Amino acid sequence: MASSKWKADTLLPGSWRNATSVLLSNGDRYLVVDTGMAHEEHLLVEALSQHGLSPSNVEGIITTHFHIDHVLNNSLFPDSIIYATQESHDWCCSLYSDLMDSQNWEKLVLKYYPQMFEYDHAVEHLHQMRKFTLRWWDRKRVGSPGQHRWLESNSLPDGLEIHVTSGHVPGHVSVIVPEKDETTVVAGDACLSRSEDVQVLTMIPRDREQSRLDREKVLSLGTRIFPGHDVEFRKNGN
Ligand SMILES: [Zn+2]
Repeated sequence: MASSKWKADTLLPGSWRNATSVLLSNGDRYLVVDTGMAHEEHLLVEALSQHGLSPSNVEGIITTHFHIDHVLNNSLFPDSIIYATQESHDWCCSLYSDLMDSQNWEKLVLKYYPQMFEYDHAVEHLHQMRKFTLRWWDRKRVGSPGQHRWLESNSLPDGLEIHVTSGHVPGHVSVIVPEKDETTVVAGDACLSRSEDVQVLTMIPRDREQSRLDREKVLSLGTRIFPGHDVEFRKNGN
């Protein structure tokens, strides 16, 4: 068992409209889990500087999945490794490129979200998704191919583990951080918020039932939880 212990801190607190970004530190090694949206770039830089850091001090990014609200400042870290699954990368890039197809996008998107019409306001949601994509999606901001270290065949640095939580997006990963006295889970969108029924501005799960099981599972893996769209919380109260 590796002796190195990582410590987790909030960089950008998640909310119904933006994703959580977390700093993992271990001595003078730093990783960032999820980097937010393009208009949050200055907030991320500011949050890092409050820890005495600049983007060049960050050795790696961990991308839980490639939804727009989690990856668009990866380009702020051109010298860092990007840990992610190729499965979530390819799935999301393909989703966004199909959403940009002006002729067939409505039909194409159902390949990714076959359960779409089980939801209320599905048509409205589809149009929102397309609007959001046209406004924000920029493949250049997710980092360059040479930076990727796919988690299908690589591990995270010693002392960190992943748990695959594919209900939200195929290949989505949550990060398990065994800290000194407790285990922290940086859940990404496997757990959107502390309360199960809170509304957040994100995509519907790809698989509703799997997503429910993922949430249960990640909540069982640790006591300190960083949800994808809410502030951190501890189980059992605080
Ligand atoms: Zn997401």
